[in-house]
Amino acid sequence: MLSTMQDVPLTVTRILSHGMTIHGKSQVTTWTGEPEPQRRSFAEIGRRATQLANALRDELGVVADQRVSTLMWNNAEHVEAYLAIPSTGAVLHTLNLRLPAEQLAWIVAHADDKVVIVNGSLLPMLAPLLPQLPSIEHVVVAGPGDRSLLAGAAPRVHDYEELIAGRPTHYDWPELDERQAAVMCYTSGTTGEPKGVVYSHRSIYLHSMQVNMAESMSLTDNDTTLVVVPQFHVNAWGLPHAAFMSGVSMLMPDRFLQPAPLAEMIERVRPTHAAAVPTIWQALLAEVTANPRDLSSMARVIIGGAACPPSLMAAYDKLGVRLCHAWGMTETSPLGTIAQPPAGLTEEEGWPYRVTQGRFSAGVEARLVGPGGEHLPWDNKSAGELEVRGPWIAGSYYGGRDGETLRPEDKFSEDGWLKTGDVGVISEDGFLTLTDRAKDVIKSGGEWISSVELENVLMAHPDVAEAAVVAVPDEKWGERPLATVVLKDGASADYGSLKDFLATSGIAKWQLPERWTVIAAVPKTSVGKFDKKVIRRQYAEGELDITQL
Ligand code: AMP
Repeated sequence: MLSTMQDVPLTVTRILSHGMTIHGKSQVTTWTGEPEPQRRSFAEIGRRATQLANALRDELGVVADQRVSTLMWNNAEHVEAYLAIPSTGAVLHTLNLRLPAEQLAWIVAHADDKVVIVNGSLLPMLAPLLPQLPSIEHVVVAGPGDRSLLAGAAPRVHDYEELIAGRPTHYDWPELDERQAAVMCYTSGTTGEPKGVVYSHRSIYLHSMQVNMAESMSLTDNDTTLVVVPQFHVNAWGLPHAAFMSGVSMLMPDRFLQPAPLAEMIERVRPTHAAAVPTIWQALLAEVTANPRDLSSMARVIIGGAACPPSLMAAYDKLGVRLCHAWGMTETSPLGTIAQPPAGLTEEEGWPYRVTQGRFSAGVEARLVGPGGEHLPWDNKSAGELEVRGPWIAGSYYGGRDGETLRPEDKFSEDGWLKTGDVGVISEDGFLTLTDRAKDVIKSGGEWISSVELENVLMAHPDVAEAAVVAVPDEKWGERPLATVVLKDGASADYGSLKDFLATSGIAKWQLPERWTVIAAVPKTSVGKFDKKVIRRQYAEGELDITQL
């Protein structure tokens, strides 16, 4: 029997029209580095997005599902592009501005982008790259920057403001199939070629609802969220779409991502919520320890993208800022789990739940798979690779111009689940604890050592600013842990006492690293995560000064 309910597609267009009317007064505040930030209401953003949609069709000739890319910081114009492009039926492709030039060129060609909207401040990066981007027919420049850098460029160049000025504030939005492509985002490609994940209107709509739910980020129009996580990285964790659904105002840092301006904008604009990777929160903590600022408005902060050291959580608790740990991937839109402790617990009882990666939402089914392909129990002990499926989880990757999809065996199971490459355990009540990336696990004499666990304990030591532990080859054990530590200013290295600290913090004796080195900074990927493959290479090439204990 079929239902009697209306079959209305779940689309970004609907998110746009809802946000600009019902939540028209909510605001996007963009940091400019000037005395006053730029402020724009959702109503205005919606109007300008509609004008952009008209310009894309009438002036640039964007038709059907052509790709329109953005090379932009987090700001109001980027939100306008987020809403306008998919609503016309075209596909927004967010480009990661931290990728090396050759990788960007590869990605633009693979996605066959016709248009790029670029922030003026990024022209020094785009201009020399343009000759390698033959698919690009139009460059649209938003915000201040030296436009003369584009003199003689092959594509047509437009100024964003001039392009949208005077355009109609009405658009006959097409009736879209909710399964149609809305946004593309390539994975950071630490191994092999980058892979294109294509979100549908439906997946974005459902994911946005989950982001807003009380058991996830609990956002309402009473909130202002500081969106540090880049809009080019998994749709800024879904926040702009979620915000237009529930009227959450947004504070956008644009290119001012250094700890000092972040601290200033928090003190001045007083966001109630924020989202970023651990390295950002580490750096901000160091900043406000040296130059105190009031961060207390920011009661709730989502931290994810890499494991959050419990010591960082404890340090922010003291500032009245509650870090909430979440796990996800480009392939999972990204919200997979979020660590809100179950109801009825004291702070103390809730702590062990807060330091996990969190529990799954109704939209995300999970299973753990052992080395032999067997499904493992949820007993908080049996460690295996996490596999997930659900309406906002990728089922394949974009296969190139002809629209083919790719389903590599190491990424998808035969029955269609996403293999996350993350290894961990799940408790009986569905809380996930990750112990490693599959490729980062240290396999010592047939037993596994969790690099993340060693790092978390080391980063709780008062002399340690950051620590990364990687597997290195060992004649006797196959692999052993190498501890690389970044010391706090003024601290000196005493490896023996660091090793004792690990032992007294509950790390088993056989797991204690015997190889140690101090490094100036942990190498980071384009999205700010520890880049362990660089450390492994440095070790292999003898570039590190190792002390053996
Ligand atoms: P990306 O697709 O670049 O967002 O990277 C996704 C990967 O980041 C995941 O597969 C995890 O390995 C890692 N990751 C994300 N969130 C967490 C977290 N809370 N704890 C540990 N690792 C995480």
